Amino acid sequence: MDTYMAADLPFHGSPVVPEMFDGNKVIRFQCREGIACWNACCSNIDISLTPYDILRLKQRLNLSSAEFLQQYTVPYEMEQGGLAGVKMRPVENGTACRFMTPEGCSMYTDRPTACRYYPLALLSMRRQDEYTDIRSYALVKESHCLGHQENKESSIDEYRREQGVEEYDDLARGWHQLILKKKSSGPSVGKPTKSSLQLFFMVCYDLDRFRSFVVSDGFNELYDLDTKDTIEILGDDAKLMLFGFRFLKQVLFGENTITMKKDAATERMVRYQEKIQRLEQEAVSKRLAEQDEMYEDTED
Ligand code: SF4
Ligand code: SF4
Repeated sequence: MDTYMAADLPFHGSPVVPEMFDGNKVIRFQCREGIACWNACCSNIDISLTPYDILRLKQRLNLSSAEFLQQYTVPYEMEQGGLAGVKMRPVENGTACRFMTPEGCSMYTDRPTACRYYPLALLSMRRQDEYTDIRSYALVKESHCLGHQENKESSIDEYRREQGVEEYDDLARGWHQLILKKKSSGPSVGKPTKSSLQLFFMVCYDLDRFRSFVVSDGFNELYDLDTKDTIEILGDDAKLMLFGFRFLKQVLFGENTITMKKDAATERMVRYQEKIQRLEQEAVSKRLAEQDEMYEDTED
């Protein structure tokens, strides 16, 4: 199952019902112990993880973020040449989730967002170059899932509350916004460099490594963080993660979300302006070259 964050509309043959709903839509669905299809959904997984999913699972398993990533996940590209995502790694030589047991999910209270959303798909759309997204939902009907034949009815908003999705959504919002902004941004942001892609991966998924980065001399030479705020951020995984999203807005999109030391800020602004100028010049040269080619073709 992978029903979460379906940013594009469903394609032909997909189990996603091609109709978009808001939170008031009433659905008929119940998953309960004893149902004939028990665990069918967890036997064949394709689950993308949010940074908050990783945070919860690594805490539950008492692992560092690096250990969790290595043992339980595989990285993937969310779009060609773009930002990286992380998926759950199924059992060795199989498709089942590592947390599946005959009694159900062994991580139930810390299960990932995708598992909580099922059988809903979240459809996110964004305006060009903005962080804001418009959300709606679709229903996923897979033939193996008998939950749709149960009699329980609830609105999508009620179902989300029941599944504890709201906290997960709130804490993943900054991450979604970064992805949407990256996907919809124009040439002024340009193609991300290898180092900015690595930085995105570390901040979003390898939180304990990001913590070491925040206490490093290099970071402190650049950023002007209040001591009290720093202590709070370093002592709380969720606060560190949210700080990381703010940090990425600054690094990836040139926003002033974290105060920089004066000299570092001036230098950075000059570098950013130079980058914008270079990208604009490249875009103009490309357009001129295309025009030249077009005229040459016409003359032939
Ligand atoms: S985390 Fe739990 S609910 Fe999600 S696929 Fe694994 S076993 Fe199933
Ligand atoms: S009803 Fe659906 S979600 Fe529940 S166990 Fe069966 S297949 Fe999984």
